[in-house]
Amino acid sequence: MEPLTEQEIRASFVNCTKGEAKRLAVPRDLAERPWADLDYLGWRDPQAPDRAYLVTMVDGRPRGLALRCPAAASWQTRRSMCSICLTTRDGGVSLMVAPKAGKAGKQGDSVGAYICDDLSCSLYVRGRKESGSGIRLHETLTVEEKVGRTVANVTAFVARVSV
Ligand SMILES: [Zn+2]
Repeated sequence: MEPLTEQEIRASFVNCTKGEAKRLAVPRDLAERPWADLDYLGWRDPQAPDRAYLVTMVDGRPRGLALRCPAAASWQTRRSMCSICLTTRDGGVSLMVAPKAGKAGKQGDSVGAYICDDLSCSLYVRGRKESGSGIRLHETLTVEEKVGRTVANVTAFVARVSV
């Protein structure tokens, strides 16, 4: 994806208030992020470990999601698969919950997904980051195909939250 500015990131959130979007922790190292290899920009709030964020491009516009990571129950520390990049890992995948946009979100509606803890799906699918002790699924897809699938999955997740 193309590099985004802090302002573009703050303006992209679909499921939090303008005030929250203004205050939330945007990474300070935006200039050093490997944008060309990112299907989405994802990060965790260093001050609030239960908060994570992701921003991706949908129809040429940045769309951001504010996510909550409920404390992991013991059953979650077992191996699980990221629903975005389909990497299987030992305990490196967390349930992340996005309040829905608009009225539905205010009424408590949310959408959950299992996502790589460090929100580095883009780097795993490109082989730029190792997924550790997880079983590597034998896949015959090319990197381009895996990237396409990752983009489709993250776009679908944003769409489910935006509805
Ligand atoms: Zn992932």
